[in-house]
Amino acid sequence: MRHVNELRWDPLSREWIIVAGHRSKRPWREKDSTEKCPFCPGAPEIGSRSDWKVIVLPNKYPALIPNPPEPSIVSSKLMKPSKAQGICEVVIETPSHEGDFDILPLGHVVEYINTLVNEQIKLLKKPFIKYVAIFKNKGREIGVSLTHPHSQIYGLPFIPKKILDEYESFKTYYREHGICLLCDIVREEIATKKHIIYENKYFLILFPFYAKWPYEIHVYSKKHISSLTQLNIEERTHLADTIRVVVSIYNNLFEKEKEIPYIMVFHQKPPEANDNYFHLHLEFYQPYRDKDKKKYAAGIELGFGVFTHDLDPREEIVKLRGTCKRATSFLDEVLGKCY
Ligand code: ZN
Ligand code: ZN
Ligand code: FE
Repeated sequence: MRHVNELRWDPLSREWIIVAGHRSKRPWREKDSTEKCPFCPGAPEIGSRSDWKVIVLPNKYPALIPNPPEPSIVSSKLMKPSKAQGICEVVIETPSHEGDFDILPLGHVVEYINTLVNEQIKLLKKPFIKYVAIFKNKGREIGVSLTHPHSQIYGLPFIPKKILDEYESFKTYYREHGICLLCDIVREEIATKKHIIYENKYFLILFPFYAKWPYEIHVYSKKHISSLTQLNIEERTHLADTIRVVVSIYNNLFEKEKEIPYIMVFHQKPPEANDNYFHLHLEFYQPYRDKDKKKYAAGIELGFGVFTHDLDPREEIVKLRGTCKRATSFLDEVLGKCY
């Protein structure tokens, strides 16, 4: 029996679900052995080349493919599947099997951002791609069995619900106040300095007032920019700087007890949308409240969309700022300052 691979629409929550039955065959790598890593130089996927810093590979178990089969089931008015057409890619961040952005030189992380930008431009030329979702999942605790540093790119045939929701917020705010919502938040944060952890010439690292996850971190551009493609090389370098600092903060948050798992997402405007109605930002989530206490998204969060933030934000910002000072002292190069 062929596996089902299609999009299904939830008319209650108004969002798409990507059904990808074949992904159940994905291997879970029990042991982390360098010989078998598919992303290390020498692996069949990579070839013998070692003259690269960042490389893009097709996802071996893609949820979306460029030429998908017709949906499997007969459609009805309310249950109408759609083709799972799209592109899923993996971005190998470095040839070396261990580590994270905080041990890569700044120029290497700029190369990573350049790769994302080039890939995004390429994907958006495909008529069936409506949004490019860029993210990184790190850590076994959140289901990532491959430890080799990598990110992912999904060229989606629709605009994700979360992005549409944010877009609506930006649009409404702009129409009511004549200014971009995040530009206004950035202005207030720079004035009050209440939630800033780190600042360089073009970006702020914040522990936002509205953090859902423990020690959730956001990166906001100071200038109004709505997508990665609008960043010039100097701005990309400063974005790379903030990514290195955030990752170093996370890797030092619990006194080097462990490299914590985290998720990094890039929120950019829907490609066709008005530039005024979206402000580029990165969001980082991690589950630990303490070095051995985790926050779970459970009934109230998953069933109702209501987050309980089980820590005192006033203590978290103090800890994040202290960690920033320590974390940046381990970096070979830093372009801004901790608060
Ligand atoms: Zn590897
Ligand atoms: Zn803005
Ligand atoms: Fe966002």
